Amino acid sequence: MPEEFDYIVVGAGAAGCVLAERLSANPAVRVALIEAGRGDRHPLHAFPMLTGYYYRRKSDNWFFNTVPQKALNDRTSFWPRGKRLGGSSIFNGMVYARGNAGDYNQWAQLGNTGWSYEDVLPYFKKNERHVNGESELHGGDGLVDVTPARPKNPLTQAFVQAGIQAGYRSIDDLNGPDVAGVGYYDFNMKRGRRSNSAGALLKSLNTRKNLQLIDNALVTGIVIENGAATGVAYVRGGEKVTLSARREVVLSAGAVGSPHILMLSGIGNPGHLKSVGIAPVHDLNGVGQNLIDHLDAFIKMAAIGEISLLRELRVDRIVTSVARAFTLGTGPVSESPISAGGYFRSREGLEYPDLQAFFVPLIISGASVWLPYTKRAKTVAGQHGYSLRIGPIRPQSRGRITLASPDPSAAPIIDPGYLSDPEDLNATVAGLKIARRILAQKAFEPFRREELAPGQGVTSDAELSDYVRATADTVYHPVGSARMGNDSMAVVDARLRVHGIRNLRVADASIMPTISSGNTNAPTMMIAEKAADMIHQDAKR
Ligand SMILES: Cc1cc2nc3c(=O)[nH]c(=O)nc-3n(C[C@H](O)[C@H](O)[C@H](O)COP(=O)(O)OP(=O)(O)OC[C@H]3O[C@@H](n4cnc5c(N)ncnc54)[C@H](O)[C@@H]3O)c2cc1C
Repeated sequence: MPEEFDYIVVGAGAAGCVLAERLSANPAVRVALIEAGRGDRHPLHAFPMLTGYYYRRKSDNWFFNTVPQKALNDRTSFWPRGKRLGGSSIFNGMVYARGNAGDYNQWAQLGNTGWSYEDVLPYFKKNERHVNGESELHGGDGLVDVTPARPKNPLTQAFVQAGIQAGYRSIDDLNGPDVAGVGYYDFNMKRGRRSNSAGALLKSLNTRKNLQLIDNALVTGIVIENGAATGVAYVRGGEKVTLSARREVVLSAGAVGSPHILMLSGIGNPGHLKSVGIAPVHDLNGVGQNLIDHLDAFIKMAAIGEISLLRELRVDRIVTSVARAFTLGTGPVSESPISAGGYFRSREGLEYPDLQAFFVPLIISGASVWLPYTKRAKTVAGQHGYSLRIGPIRPQSRGRITLASPDPSAAPIIDPGYLSDPEDLNATVAGLKIARRILAQKAFEPFRREELAPGQGVTSDAELSDYVRATADTVYHPVGSARMGNDSMAVVDARLRVHGIRNLRVADASIMPTISSGNTNAPTMMIAEKAADMIHQDAKR
């Protein structure tokens, strides 16, 4: 007989950890959390400045790549996705950005009752443990720490000054009611260390007998009997195992993993499933469709003096900084390199900003750790400089995830359809112009040398468009591939129940009908908080 649990949560990522933690708070139910990666935490994942190193490594990483993107000159995009307790939040940038009220009010207007801004705000607060405690907008005793950045790098400080000089407002709280302007982001950090929902889960794993983490286990499908999910099949150490779910199975395997598992289980477009040799169990054409991601482009500037973060990337300095971060929780390694940024409108008349920017006190793409006494620091990638990334946060382009093979260990085909809607290209070009205007302000005078990219000669819309196509890349925010709604292409309803299958929900980034206006981790954890509440409520009915 398969082992029985009340709830089986698939995927111990940003959402899955919240769900398992909240569901197992009820001692009367038994909860299993299944994760493909390791079930512990890597001590060096804690430090913000090492993020850029870890997400490029193969370990703890699904290491996906998209198919060639037509509008990006047939370039592919590297899609790291976390494969360890914490999911992608083990090496994400930790920017805590909720999006704005308009995002959620739109979800509600699309027919998703219970998802307006007023409805979701309590779940953002419930999830949050803000360093300054509870307030009207922030939570004080949630699962995950939030700390506003107070960066010391003069370039980062110059960015905010320059934004104000360019006519934008200085925003105190970039999660406040009106975020159009520049400021410092909030981070999922405490005392210079990463905070994520995995931390909260680990504490409960030690104390709750009704919660079990099954790690290094690749989920291969959901068991469906008579139109209801009754269990989960996985492979662990070469052994095939099936668990039985008395109440519900909840998929939290992320925007790639959740639609992948649904399709492997025979839930999806029947024509597509048959084409790869999977027998359809339930027709749901929207599975894997509506994939949305953020894409951005950047201005790179050379700087006067040894002022950029590159200084700190010298190997001996890194070692000292890691030791300092470990012992005191201070120093460069404990600060995020992307502390400042802002939200802008690409054109007049928009109710909410449609562009997001991140200032980086470093020439991005190319900068890496270097050894002292080498010529490395004199190369182009080794120059001191700074970058401003900017891109549309409400893109209209849509892509899809489809199966390459019925083999669960084979990666699915990821086609984000970047810039397939020309409006997204226009918005990015408008963003680059805003970025240039900010970087041209007086605050940068002591630091500014030449523009390295796109370069002073690149000015017309056509030239800037070419530059975007040649260089723009993912911001790592895929969502929407098992979207919530009531129409024929929707995968889950407003209570996140898979249409047409009983006892099966999806609760992670994939349910977003449209992408939130900013980084997606906080909205994903909000979704999981709300899902847990709905599951508790529905169990009482
Ligand atoms: C490099 C990078 C930087 C980012 N920076 C930021 C940022 O600064 N701020 C922000 O808000 N967001 C950021 N994000 C995005 C954010 O991390 C995600 O939106 C968030 O983690 C999504 O949560 P999720 O629970 O949907 O998926 P994930 O966190 O990815 O979790 C999915 C989990 O499911 C597991 N899984 C998948 N398939 C299976 C299977 N078949 N069997 C068993 N387990 C499975 C995975 O291993 C993983 O643990 C970043 C992401 C990346 C990759």
